[in-house]
Amino acid sequence: MEELKAYIRNIPDFPKPGIQFKDVTTLFQDKEGFKKALDALEARFKNEGFDAVAGIESRGFILGAALADRLGLGIVLVRKKGKLPGETLSQTYALEYGTDELQVHVGAIQKGQKILLVDDLLATGGTFEAAAKLVEASQGTVGALLCIIELTGLPGRELLKNYRVESLITYDEG
Ligand code: AMP
Repeated sequence: MEELKAYIRNIPDFPKPGIQFKDVTTLFQDKEGFKKALDALEARFKNEGFDAVAGIESRGFILGAALADRLGLGIVLVRKKGKLPGETLSQTYALEYGTDELQVHVGAIQKGQKILLVDDLLATGGTFEAAAKLVEASQGTVGALLCIIELTGLPGRELLKNYRVESLITYDEG
């Protein structure tokens, strides 16, 4: 899906010097680009027996919700700490400086459900790893980790080697 790169904007030095930020909002806002991405993902996942999509806040919500609808599934929200109103399960994960925390509602994922976990981008893999642990803590199965963009210059895929990782496009930078 190299053609999708035309819809993605690179913003150098955001949020800090040295980071090449891959901005997928320019893909989401383009009706043709968004449709191309969803067509490809629908074809890839439609007959795979997933029970639900789980989207990671916040760009994972946009992609995950649209894809869930295409697949005839619901969408579970994996949110940053303190946003979900009900009882939650929590998973901390390491950032470059300090830690962050993801949460999911207790009962949002049913025991044995096969979950398609969605985010916009895979970098170090820490975010997907934490979200996958939440799926497993909910007694669901992580059927696949799906992102639009994979940064292959970072060891995300290695960290997540026990999972099926799917991406639409890659950049060999880190
Ligand atoms: P990681 O946990 O290192 O795999 O980082 C993945 C999360 O951070 C995703 O939710 C991305 O939205 C965001 N992210 C990390 N690096 C970038 C980047 N270079 N461009 C855009 N988003 C990024």
